[in-house]
Amino acid sequence: MYIIMLGAPGSGKGTIGKEICKKYNLTHLSTGDIFRDEIKRDTDLGKKANEYISNGNLVPDDITISMVEDKLMELGDVLLDGFPRTINQAESLKKFLNQKEKSVTAVINLCIPDEDIIKRTSSRVICSNKECGATFNTIFMPPKVEGICDVCGSKLIVRDDDKPETIKERLNVYYKNTEPLISFYKKEGILETIDIDIYSNTTKEDTTEKAFQIIERRLK
Ligand SMILES: [Zn+2]
Repeated sequence: MYIIMLGAPGSGKGTIGKEICKKYNLTHLSTGDIFRDEIKRDTDLGKKANEYISNGNLVPDDITISMVEDKLMELGDVLLDGFPRTINQAESLKKFLNQKEKSVTAVINLCIPDEDIIKRTSSRVICSNKECGATFNTIFMPPKVEGICDVCGSKLIVRDDDKPETIKERLNVYYKNTEPLISFYKKEGILETIDIDIYSNTTKEDTTEKAFQIIERRLK
């Protein structure tokens, strides 16, 4: 089984992905993890990738594709997170699986209104005491005393990364990069969108259940 997860930063993609892996016994494969692993093992691909990363550049498609394909050869069923990121990668993956007479089971696309992501992410607060680093969420997991860390009593702050302007920018980049992939998988007939509205009544459990239903249907 090959599941691809799509979702903006802050959509809960990581959490839902973990639940899917647990239920269907899939290996969670993120390109970040693969890069780190290859670099640590000092493989040829790892060395090449490291050159780009340490110079602050993106790792070119052909290196990323080779790494992912190597991993797919070793593994059984996987959930892909962060790959493919480009049409070129998506087409390579399709070709690679076709050669093994396999195909992507489903592309699960988590769709959340921007305002919800902004609310959810900007409600994240961290302890200003770097040695503590406890995190809270003013909506979902509030500290006992507003603005104060439960653990050490220091002030809680919003990280620069979690400020609404920064989140908006990050979302725009995500949408721009992901639109072509969404069209690609729509055409392939395997795109499955789950609409989430965390402020009405969609819980993490609802979303997970919907994802399970999609997979069950796709497996038939
Ligand atoms: Zn603290």
